[in-house]
Amino acid sequence: MDLYEYQGKQLFARFGIPVSEGRVALTPGEAKAAAAELGGPVVVKAQVLTGGRGKAGGIKLAATPDEAAERAAEILGLDIRGHVVRTLWIERASDIEREYYFSITFDRGAKRPLFMLTTSGGVDIEEVAESDPDAIARLHIDPLAGWHPWIARELCFRAAIPAAERKQVMAIIEAAYRTFRESDAMLVEINPLIVTPDGEIRALDSKFTVDDNALMRHPDIAGMRDLAAADPQEQMAREKGLTYVKLDGEVGILGNGAGLVMSTLDVVAQAGGHAANFLDVGGGAQAQEIVDALEVITSDPKVRAILFNIFGGITRCDEVAQGILDALSGRDIGVPMVVRLDGTSDEEGRKLLADANPPGVHVERTMLDAARRAVELAGAPA
Ligand code: GDP
Ligand code: MN
Repeated sequence: MDLYEYQGKQLFARFGIPVSEGRVALTPGEAKAAAAELGGPVVVKAQVLTGGRGKAGGIKLAATPDEAAERAAEILGLDIRGHVVRTLWIERASDIEREYYFSITFDRGAKRPLFMLTTSGGVDIEEVAESDPDAIARLHIDPLAGWHPWIARELCFRAAIPAAERKQVMAIIEAAYRTFRESDAMLVEINPLIVTPDGEIRALDSKFTVDDNALMRHPDIAGMRDLAAADPQEQMAREKGLTYVKLDGEVGILGNGAGLVMSTLDVVAQAGGHAANFLDVGGGAQAQEIVDALEVITSDPKVRAILFNIFGGITRCDEVAQGILDALSGRDIGVPMVVRLDGTSDEEGRKLLADANPPGVHVERTMLDAARRAVELAGAPA
């Protein structure tokens, strides 16, 4: 789960990372009131779950409360890479002498948290990594050995942080690691980490991703999710406890088990189609689960055919077939569905479907045939 900048900064503040004072605003009027309360110049910042807001015109300085209202009116409703701005963060403006970059993320290859620090911040870190990779100090740490102050000292040394700033930067690195650990984060990124003309160091931005599987340990963070910004199908699937990933194509995919669903995506691509989603109903495939899954899939207007791929191991294909029949009874799902059943009790399952012969349901024996049929029924992508 990704957090908005202002939510990440709330967590930063809780763990002792210095941030600027600010307020959330949903309207130009609230932006004006926030600016008046903060006093002096402010920055009006679009809160969207994507980076590069500055370049997209989503971050603007305002000298007075009236200007803050004007900038807010310009930014609200802006589309930043597909994210419409509905929330603003009004923050006391900072004077910036230099911009650094700091992050903690997981390096899956090394199976360790990776710290990165560079004095070439502010811009896209990918650009720095490309043009001047040696400018980025990188350090992996052993999560079992825990925190040790040398980690922060070593990073500052490698990144050539000026001596006068080291104490502050080290304290921020240590606090950031505590934030990362104690929030079960996958990413904590500060870009830019600024140095003010007075030599004060502060997090001016925050990118914060928390491990979804750890959210039950953090009800406060789980409560930060912006339900209005979520994809409607993903939202519905989450409520029903289904594993669902939205993709771009036209064939809705339903299977039991992540491995099978992933290979189904490949076979649909092989057949010349594009998957509209990834929906894993898991081991169980009872009528209610199938009803829920079909409801999620068919609520996506891009879906023009459904491929239901089941491999029966412990799951029995005849039970799945019965589940499909129960789920379809008296219901028009509006799009054709191809069913492939293989494994335990597949003969019985296919017979059940053949005997009932529900409208719009096509049974195929193999995964490839099923994928071809589904792609054909979905028609050529518009
Ligand atoms: P991003 O574009 O989504 O990464 O948003 P940031 O919060 O990182 O802001 C982008 C840029 O706007 C920063 O790198 C700064 O150069 C500038 N900026 C943001 N806040 C302030 C501020 O308080 N004062 C000044 N002078 N510039 C700011
Ligand atoms: Mn930034």
